[in-house]
Amino acid sequence: MLHIYWFRKDLRLTDNRAISEFINSVSGNDKFFFLYIKNRNTYKYFGEKRLGFLYETLIELNEELGKLNFHLEIIEGKSKNVFKSLTENYKELSVYCNKQVEPYCIGRDEEVKELLNETGNKFHSYSDTTLFEPGEVLNGEGNQYKVYTPFKNQCLKILKDADFKKIDSDLSRLNPDNEESISGLNKIDPDSELQKINKSDFLKGGRQEGLKLLKEFYENGLEEYRSKRDIPSVGGTSLLSAHLHFGTIGIREAFRTAFVKYDKVNNESSKGEIQTWINELLWREFYYNITFHNPRIIFESFKKECDNIRWNNDIHNFDKWCQGKTGYPIVDAGMRQLVKEGWMHNRVRMVTAMFLTKDLLTDWRWGEKFFAEHLIDLDFSSNNGGWQWSASTGVDAQPYFRIFNPYLQSKKFDPGGIYIRKYLPELRTLPAEFIHNPSLMNEEQQKLYGVIIDKDYPSPIVEHFKVKDEVVKRFKEALDSELK
Ligand SMILES: Cc1cc2nc3c(=O)[nH]c(=O)nc-3n(C[C@H](O)[C@H](O)[C@H](O)COP(=O)(O)OP(=O)(O)OC[C@H]3O[C@@H](n4cnc5c(N)ncnc54)[C@H](O)[C@@H]3O)c2cc1C
Repeated sequence: MLHIYWFRKDLRLTDNRAISEFINSVSGNDKFFFLYIKNRNTYKYFGEKRLGFLYETLIELNEELGKLNFHLEIIEGKSKNVFKSLTENYKELSVYCNKQVEPYCIGRDEEVKELLNETGNKFHSYSDTTLFEPGEVLNGEGNQYKVYTPFKNQCLKILKDADFKKIDSDLSRLNPDNEESISGLNKIDPDSELQKINKSDFLKGGRQEGLKLLKEFYENGLEEYRSKRDIPSVGGTSLLSAHLHFGTIGIREAFRTAFVKYDKVNNESSKGEIQTWINELLWREFYYNITFHNPRIIFESFKKECDNIRWNNDIHNFDKWCQGKTGYPIVDAGMRQLVKEGWMHNRVRMVTAMFLTKDLLTDWRWGEKFFAEHLIDLDFSSNNGGWQWSASTGVDAQPYFRIFNPYLQSKKFDPGGIYIRKYLPELRTLPAEFIHNPSLMNEEQQKLYGVIIDKDYPSPIVEHFKVKDEVVKRFKEALDSELK
């Protein structure tokens, strides 16, 4: 018998359900090994910075296994082909992994499972990526929740301490002499792969880094989360999204950390701050459930009638949005942060997404793809959910007639323009009066501050105050066409 532990979005050794099952299943002189497949048959968007995070994580994971005298086999190729080759070379395979909810991953797993079953081998998968197994939390009629708040309330109602209890996974119970070294597959070395790419200086991969962020957030962030989370110039959020995505920090660990602090603090205001973070983790659960129940959202608007919207899809304006040259500083700062760091603050993700879909009337899928190509924390469900929320095409989305005013968002959440100045150095000299809308400056003021409009910084590519009527018209048209 050869047991294979297949790592995917669970790149850690502790508190990992499938690893725990794997350890319990290996007995006597059974052979085993640890596998990661870098495959191209899953989500095709994998930007350089995201790859950098992945390689750093794999390097550290291999080192951690090395401390126990094991190692990680890292193979590049299509998952099905990797397992086909393994079934040709070994008898009685037993594969262990944690489930994924993304439709392309489900397709991949079905292919692998079928292949293994046909050849008399076994495939075991477990739920570990979310606190509740997708599909588990249903409404009174046994259907999916389509609104976040009742979903969240139900989660909090049924949540027990046991749901986020640490799962034991003691790898020292395995005998290193029984680890199999495989050959004949396309092995890759993350160390040398890392040298070839331009990684992010902002977010670093690996569990140690995730633990550091979690500790820092536990000590200095959680109790002020609600008050600070919307201010992009302040490090008020946990920065854990990529770690939660790749599983360097487990979701039980995140909830546990929050509840430990919640129980420790004794004033209602601090509890409220922490509860808001718990609610954000539940948004993640909510969007995973939406993907689980509605895999069609990979291509379609959740509200099907919204696929009739006549988008402008102006490629020139889209390019300006991608480059951070729209003439709206808060939008441009966000887009430059994304491209430079591979991450963007949540408030600014909403502002930039709303601007692309409403002010520029661009199909949300264009923006979803651009984010997917650049985000380190790219997570299909949260990205698709965030985009469809902003575009008003999604489940429990922002109503289409409620359009963020980018100037007001900027003034409210970056009043002194600290965030804008950080990512738009060309505007550093502007006073707060003009930082949110430099095109208000007259010629004299432009000269005084050394920012000439349309030379140093563009004038707005669209006029925000004129777009609302058109957006409402396009949405109404789409909704009416569905009724006919
Ligand atoms: C257009 C758009 C695209 C997005 N794309 C992604 C994405 O690809 N990957 C991703 O993880 N998040 C995405 N988000 C959600 C959110 O912006 C990020 O999770 C958050 O900014 C990550 O920062 P943090 O880890 O400091 O979050 P914190 O504020 O500390 O929140 C803790 C965790 O809760 C989860 N979370 C927080 N907010 C949300 C949310 N609105 N929806 C779902 N989960 C949430 C994340 O796992 C996050 O790490 C997107 C939001 C929008 C509006």
